[in-house]
Amino acid sequence: MADAPITQDVLTIPRKLPEGPVNLVGLTRDAMREVLIASGTPEKQAKMRVGQIWQWIYQWGVRDFAVMTNLSKAYRAELAEKFVIEIPEVVSKQVSEDGTRKWLVRIAGGHEVEVVYIPEEGRGTLCISSQVGCTLTCSFCHTGTQKLVRNLTAGEIVGQVMMARDDLDEWPVPGAPKDETRLLSNIVLMGMGEPLYNFENVRDAMKIAMDEEGIQLSRRRITLSTSGVVPEIERTANEIGCQLAVSFHATTDEVRDKLVPINKRWNIEALLEALKAYPRGRNSERITFEYVMLHGVNDSDEDAHRLIKLIEGIPAKINLIPFNEWPGAPYTRSSNNRIRAFANIIYNAGYASPIRTPRGEDIMAACGQLKSATERARKSRKEIAAEAGLG
Ligand code: SAH
Ligand code: SF4
Repeated sequence: MADAPITQDVLTIPRKLPEGPVNLVGLTRDAMREVLIASGTPEKQAKMRVGQIWQWIYQWGVRDFAVMTNLSKAYRAELAEKFVIEIPEVVSKQVSEDGTRKWLVRIAGGHEVEVVYIPEEGRGTLCISSQVGCTLTCSFCHTGTQKLVRNLTAGEIVGQVMMARDDLDEWPVPGAPKDETRLLSNIVLMGMGEPLYNFENVRDAMKIAMDEEGIQLSRRRITLSTSGVVPEIERTANEIGCQLAVSFHATTDEVRDKLVPINKRWNIEALLEALKAYPRGRNSERITFEYVMLHGVNDSDEDAHRLIKLIEGIPAKINLIPFNEWPGAPYTRSSNNRIRAFANIIYNAGYASPIRTPRGEDIMAACGQLKSATERARKSRKEIAAEAGLG
């Protein structure tokens, strides 16, 4: 079945170290402690060692054990023998006219995913991927035309953030005061893949991104976007606690079934129930409803009015996304006038309704355009149209 959940990679704590050096990036503090003990670090020192190594890796961006000067020389040499500090490798980088950067990075197995950095006034957002491809087949999404290859590990997820820090040259220098104005200030899990079908790895990676001694981003600056994996929404609140965005995109089950096929499993009513229960730290922490504007499909005045009715009682902001076209896409973008009229109806009902400015279009970095050109597993135009119920 196209939208069957894939098996989760549960992080098991190894009793014995596997062959070859272990990558420390992406391990939780507990898991790091276990691997250090398994490799000979005395148990009573392990917690302190984790703290020290953790800070070098995530706070200072160090990849070389030799630089970790608060550890003894002998211990550093031992670490270098048994462990590595590895992040995805940059294959190519493109910079848009508007400053948006897109990197193609390679992960183990030779697979590739895309990472996008969007600079804004006084801040900057990194859009990261959670899977190579996607099990879901949203008919307007370029990634949806690429079959799922595999889940990213926690190290590969947080590694995208570390790679971007490298490229932006934004690692602080030891001893320097903490810089409050960062180029990379926000993370959105809006790249390739469905983050809630890779829950544990996404959670562990985001915990590192939020860690006080790690990458130090506030949970309010991390937004996870889901197509609507209802059973995992409550867990997201409890175990990650980040902001939530949901790819809503339609106001009737009939249309949503076609646009976001996971709707056939958890329909609009089930999704809204889960969203109503999503606890928020403060009232200002609204749920973002993402709504892609597709000409003649979901963009009528009636849709706008239905949307307002549906979300009643949910503290929400509606993010309208002009459809980003890609070769072979079975839809076109709504006109600017239509998008504005739709936005006004929502705004007049008391909701913020920002229209997302497409960024990095010239380098195919805009929402939903990501797809590694190198992946062979593609679907034909005909298959895409047939799955969208258009064929
Ligand atoms: N899989 C997750 C997150 C990745 S997509 C999800 O579906 O929510 C991030 C956002 O971009 C989603 O709202 C998605 O529906 C939207 N999107 C996908 N393709 C798009 C396209 N071609 N144009 C505009 N937005 C698109
Ligand atoms: Fe997957 Fe999200 Fe694209 Fe749907 S919109 S196919 S869930 S990446």
